[in-house]
Amino acid sequence: MLIDSHCHFCFPDLQADAAGVLERMHAAGVERALNISTSTTDLVPVVEFAQAHEGIYATVGIHPDNEEASEPDVATLVRHARADKVVGIGETGLDYYRLREPLDWQRDRFRTHIRAARESGKPLIIHTRSSAEDTLRIMREERAQDVGGVMHCFTETADVARAAIDLGFLISFSGIITFKSASDLRAVAAQLPDNAILVETDSPFLAPVPHRGKSNEPAWVAHVATLLAQLRGQSVDHIHKITGDNFLRLFNILN
Ligand SMILES: [Zn+2]
Ligand SMILES: [Zn+2]
Repeated sequence: MLIDSHCHFCFPDLQADAAGVLERMHAAGVERALNISTSTTDLVPVVEFAQAHEGIYATVGIHPDNEEASEPDVATLVRHARADKVVGIGETGLDYYRLREPLDWQRDRFRTHIRAARESGKPLIIHTRSSAEDTLRIMREERAQDVGGVMHCFTETADVARAAIDLGFLISFSGIITFKSASDLRAVAAQLPDNAILVETDSPFLAPVPHRGKSNEPAWVAHVATLLAQLRGQSVDHIHKITGDNFLRLFNILN
């Protein structure tokens, strides 16, 4: 089953044509998608969008790049995570690329999200950029391995991927693997075990080749799956099956 493990239906580009986006997604054979929350503002709409649409699930969390006026605590995140169709906590993590130190607030927020995931028993969606070492360190210190999760939009090395897999995390590949410059990442994607990989769009960002530069949407996760099949010498159907099975298993979705 082809599933987009990470997209943002409630960002303006997708929200403006939600019916069309869903129609094109289903026409492309993408049966399910995970709608990711990123801020105190989109947290409730993201969950409501999932509740209103079959095959769409939601997460609750505050993105590491968002400087918020108020910071949700563990109890607040856990309460939101109890809503119907919420399957994970995030996206959370660290991003040292866009923002500069002092980033104690970002690390504190990440710890809060891991604690909320452990308390709610729901896996984490982790964003890491220019911060892999600290991300893995905090994951270990906070025992993220108790719930597992996804390293989303993965762009790190094979060593980082293996360290995350050892903690019970899956590695999710986005349209970045179709970009000309991403040969190192393609080599990582070619070597990971079948039971460790997912595919995602991170739409509306990161449209894959041949749509690069446009506003991305869940339908185009099919391009990511097709390229993964080529890299790994496997059939496209096989990639759909393993990435779909991995998603349903991780998020404890039974049918
Ligand atoms: Zn992200
Ligand atoms: Zn995202």
